[in-house]
Amino acid sequence: MQIDFANLKQCHQDYKQEIEEGMLRVAREANYIMGEEVSKLEEELVDFIGGGYAITCGSGSDALLLALLALGIKSGDEVITTPFSFIATAEMIALLGAKPVFVDISLKDYNLDVHLIEHKITAKTKAILAVSLYGQPPQLNLLEAMARKYNLKLILDGAQSFGAEFLKKKDSLYGDIATTSFFPAKPLGCYGDGGAVFTKDEALALKIASLRLHGQKQRYIHQYIGIGGRLDALQAVILRIKLRNFKEVIQKRNFVALQYAKYLNEDSLVLPRVLKGRTSTFAQYTIRVKNRAKLILELENIGIPTAIHYPLGLHLQECFRGLGYQKGDFLVCERVSQEVLSLPMNPYLSEEQIQWIAHNINKRI
Ligand SMILES: *Cc1c(COP(=O)(O)O)cnc(C)c1O
Repeated sequence: MQIDFANLKQCHQDYKQEIEEGMLRVAREANYIMGEEVSKLEEELVDFIGGGYAITCGSGSDALLLALLALGIKSGDEVITTPFSFIATAEMIALLGAKPVFVDISLKDYNLDVHLIEHKITAKTKAILAVSLYGQPPQLNLLEAMARKYNLKLILDGAQSFGAEFLKKKDSLYGDIATTSFFPAKPLGCYGDGGAVFTKDEALALKIASLRLHGQKQRYIHQYIGIGGRLDALQAVILRIKLRNFKEVIQKRNFVALQYAKYLNEDSLVLPRVLKGRTSTFAQYTIRVKNRAKLILELENIGIPTAIHYPLGLHLQECFRGLGYQKGDFLVCERVSQEVLSLPMNPYLSEEQIQWIAHNINKRI
């Protein structure tokens, strides 16, 4: 049996006719940048999350950059964030000349440990940038309360969690700004790069929309220094089609997760846990094991692909050497980065396949 990790080919088959016709239509109309498809997608994203404003953009990384720019984060500012994420989270802070200040994660959900934030706040701290890792939101109520108490901005990097809920509300509706990514392998993926920024604040929404178009006010008249961060019409066409079915896709991913939990032997590995009051999109199904390197090779040999999200904490990355962090600074992050293993996760995995994957893991650990 050969297992596909994200199974994007099968996903295209699901929407084949509609998507191929839509792509051809865009090609023939020659309306490639922004336009009606993009504004309709933005309306439909707002409907999906249940309020606020949605501004689509070129990628999940651009979405983070736009969020930080819109909130005025600049050189010399400090932004508190997690060391256990994709590089873009801290990279976009550093790109603006601000300083990522890392705080260790919780062993329960691998997200920022809210209780460790308070003593990292200084006079220079301007914002908290939290992540919904593997598709599960962090403790957004506590994060909002902390931001309010210290007059900080709160940004949620929801690149992995579009559609996830915290206390029955989509996580995109928390904080000052939330972002997401439509990278192909994310739960809602387009056919290239794409992303979106969400906010409940109209003035911020207008600023983000302008920043995305080089800070323009009207054509060739510029009020801010922004970026070329537009979403293509082609991607918008694809996302509009996939969004209609997305609730069902999230349900299927959760069903796959339930079946993994049923068949994997919890005595010798740690299963992911969705905590009370939250839902997950299961962007990844990530377990923790002790003998990871050996297991990866053995699984690969029998056709079971795996991935590591992520093998090295951001505080230990070469690009952040200048920040002065050392091994031992964030023990939970460092321990977890040695143990995490993401298993194949897509809505097309059958119970038989999951049982077979689980059986092959159980007998090796
Ligand atoms: C994927 C991802 C991003 C970046 O998204 P792109 O669309 O690839 O730029 C940012 N943060 C997290 C947590 C991600 O998983």
